[in-house]
Amino acid sequence: QAKNAGRERCVIYSPEHQQEVNDRLEIERGLRVALESDQLKIYMQPQVNLAGQIQSAEVLLRWLHPEQGMIPPFHFIPIAEETGLILRLGHWVLDKTLEQISRWQAEKTVFPAQISINVSAWQFSQPDFVAHTRSLCDKWQIDPQCIVLELTETALLRDITETRQKLDALRHTGFRVSLDDFGTGYSSLAYLRDLPLDELKIDKSFIDEIQPGSRQPLVESMIAIGKHMKMDVIAEGVETAEQALQLSEMGCIKYQGFHFARPMPAEEIPQWIIDRNKRRK
Ligand code: C2E
Ligand code: MG
Ligand code: MG
Ligand code: MG
Repeated sequence: QAKNAGRERCVIYSPEHQQEVNDRLEIERGLRVALESDQLKIYMQPQVNLAGQIQSAEVLLRWLHPEQGMIPPFHFIPIAEETGLILRLGHWVLDKTLEQISRWQAEKTVFPAQISINVSAWQFSQPDFVAHTRSLCDKWQIDPQCIVLELTETALLRDITETRQKLDALRHTGFRVSLDDFGTGYSSLAYLRDLPLDELKIDKSFIDEIQPGSRQPLVESMIAIGKHMKMDVIAEGVETAEQALQLSEMGCIKYQGFHFARPMPAEEIPQWIIDRNKRRK
C-alpha cells in the first residue's frame, strides 16, 4: 500500500484520471440540471407470485439524458451518494412515487397494493428521515402501509441503536422494511435478530447461480432464515423459468426479474396488470 502511494500520487495527473474526474463533475453537474428539468423518470418493476400475479412493485430511478439517452443508476447513484445529491434525488423519488400512487387512487385504476422504494444509506442516516418520510405521505394522503422501504446492510449497520429506533418508528407508522441485496454484505447475521425487518431480498448474484440440476444450499438457507424469522422472502433478478421453478421448490413465494417483467415507466403499470389478468383467463 505504502509502496504504491508515490505511484498513485502521479496517477492523479494522468490524462485518464483527469478524464475520470471530468466525467464525475459532468455527471454531478448534469444531475443538478436533471433535477430541475424533468429528465428524471420513475420506472417500476413488478414483484409477483409464481403464477405471475402482481404483489408489489419496486421503484427504479431512470435518467433520460437529452443527448446521452438513458443513463443507468449504477453510473450516477454512487456519484450522487458521494456528493450528497442523493438527498435531493431520494426526496424527489419519494415525492414522485407518492404523487403517482395518489393519482392512481384518484383514477380508481388497478395498481400494486405495495410499492418498494430504495433508500440510500446517507438518506436513512438523516436525523429527520422518519419525520420527513411520514410528512410526505401526509402531503399525498398515502397510507404508509402501502410503502416498503428497501435498505441495505450498509445503511442499517452504521449505528445499530439508532437504526433500531428508526425502524421501530417507521414500522409503528405502518411502513414495511425490506433488506435489499441480502447475502452480499460481510457482517454476521446477528443483526437479523436485533432489527425488526419485514422482508429479505435475496441478491441477484445468488439467483444467477441457480442452473438446471444444481442445488443452491445458500439460497435454500436464506429462504429458510426468512421463514423461521417470519419475514417475507423475495428473489431478485429471476431471469428464467427454471430459476423460478427451483426457487418455488425451495419455498420462495415472491419473485422479481426479467422472466416476469422488466422495469417500465410507472404509468404503464396498471395496463400491465390488466393485460396480465386477461392472459390468465
Ligand atoms: P436494486 O435495488 O438491487 O435493484 C434491482 C436492480 O436489478 C435494478 O437495476 C433492476 O432493473 C435489476 N433487475 C431486476 N431484475 C433483473 C433481471 O432479471 N436481470 C437483470 N440483469 N437485472 C435485473 P437498476 O434499475 O439498474 O438499479 C440498480 C441499482 O440502483 C438498484 O439496485 C439500487 O441500488 C439503485 N437505485 C435505483 N433506483 C434508486 C433510487 O430511487 N434510489 C436509490 N437510493 N437507489 C436506487
Ligand atoms: Mg432495491
Ligand atoms: Mg436489490
Ligand atoms: Mg441488487
